[in-house]
Amino acid sequence: MDSNDRKLDELRARIPSFTCIVGCHDCCGPVTASSEEMARLPVKTEAEHEAALAELSCPHLGEHGCEVYSERPLICRLFGTTPSLLCPNGRRPVYMIDRRTEQEIHQFLARTRQVLV
Ligand code: SF4
Ligand code: SF4
Repeated sequence: MDSNDRKLDELRARIPSFTCIVGCHDCCGPVTASSEEMARLPVKTEAEHEAALAELSCPHLGEHGCEVYSERPLICRLFGTTPSLLCPNGRRPVYMIDRRTEQEIHQFLARTRQVLV
């Protein structure tokens, strides 16, 4: 496991979790991720990517929600945990993410090559 993979797991563990509205996927859409995260996701065809993008959706959003939940990208995990990415439906963790973790996530995103999921 390389250092980016380790950092990814560490950052994931530091993001506070919270319970979403059952069946809600209002915050899903075209998102980007690092190659380390992409390597953990199932490969989608170009046609699947294009179909999702045409609907401003994500190729991993299925009928029953996110199909890659345990491996969803950092940006999906960050959503709703910081005042800069508030859940439009008012859901949030008891304690929002700490500033240092959020900064480290943005540093990770900036130094890893991001591609459209
Ligand atoms: S964070 Fe909010 S908008 Fe996103 S899935 Fe959860 S409840 Fe829905
Ligand atoms: S990876 Fe999952 S949580 Fe993230 S945008 Fe796609 S469907 Fe939504």
